[in-house]
Amino acid sequence: MKAAVLTGVKKIELQEKDLKPLRSNEVLVKVKAVGVCGSDIAYYQRGQADIPPPIILGHEFTGEIVELGPIAKDLGIVKEGERIVAEPVQACGVCQPCKNASTNLCAKPTVLGVNVDGGFAEYCKVQYNYIHPLPRNVSYEEGAFTEPLACALYGVGKMRIQPGDFCVVVGPGPIGLMMLQYIKASGSGKVALIGTRDYRLKLGGKLGADYLINTRERGSKYFAENPVERIKEWSDGAGADAVIVATGNIEANELGISVAGAKSRVVFFGGAGYGPEEQARINLWQGTLRDMEIHYSWLSPYTFPKAIKAISQGLVKVKPLITHTFNLNKTAEAIETVEQRKGNPLKVQVKP
Ligand SMILES: [Zn+2]
Ligand SMILES: [Zn+2]
Repeated sequence: MKAAVLTGVKKIELQEKDLKPLRSNEVLVKVKAVGVCGSDIAYYQRGQADIPPPIILGHEFTGEIVELGPIAKDLGIVKEGERIVAEPVQACGVCQPCKNASTNLCAKPTVLGVNVDGGFAEYCKVQYNYIHPLPRNVSYEEGAFTEPLACALYGVGKMRIQPGDFCVVVGPGPIGLMMLQYIKASGSGKVALIGTRDYRLKLGGKLGADYLINTRERGSKYFAENPVERIKEWSDGAGADAVIVATGNIEANELGISVAGAKSRVVFFGGAGYGPEEQARINLWQGTLRDMEIHYSWLSPYTFPKAIKAISQGLVKVKPLITHTFNLNKTAEAIETVEQRKGNPLKVQVKP
């Protein structure tokens, strides 16, 4: 099969690779659409994911089942020809976190595109218990948003949104723009979207944000010198009831705390802080007086079905987020488009 293989720092080569036989717990998937994730950029720049190269990246993908391993065959729960989305973080099922239902903290996960070969290829092997059927009305391209959306929904769940809550989303990337829509669908009140690029904020406005703040581009009509004051004005002096920060940027995470009001829930989403050494400064006294809750959100334990439903029912529109599509032999270009923000990208996809 043809595969886009990461071979070193900023090096992706199209190679012909032999497919090893399926293990008993695997099925073979013909890949149809793969999304480029922020973490793919980091692996590309470092020249390695969680294992040394060569490795095929890509963990946000859909495809068609073309071959069943023995267990899937015996169970009879999936068929060849079925349209599916792969859940890339395949927990071991036997470590302590797994046994305590915290599969997102699994000690020995097999992660497609991170520590085993992933989706930037014609075919990918997926464990039979980590495939989810795609509803008929969800295209392969839309289905490829399931993984990031499943992560987003896990985070949004921690906001514990009540009807009418004033919510803030910091970071209007593809994830933040999906969160925004799901927050709205969860019965929130007004939602403010805070970012640093107008093209992303404008799309957020179309997708349901009530208020927009640009913290960086001074020429922007959404520019606010003091976002905290702005949020206070819009929330009748109260501050936000629930906040989610969908960027690793430290200042953005600190801002997320600052805009939150009394009894608020603030969620730091995903790779908050970009790196293992990053520290944020928060005002402990103010947080105490606000009786505030701070949460983290990591991966997507058991949220795939919810995410698929949200796409299928139109609660979260993902099509408007696709800005670029590339062939498999242009995988490096796809990754560079996101890395260098060529042509105002949001979600970039590869179609093998
Ligand atoms: Zn990802
Ligand atoms: Zn485990």
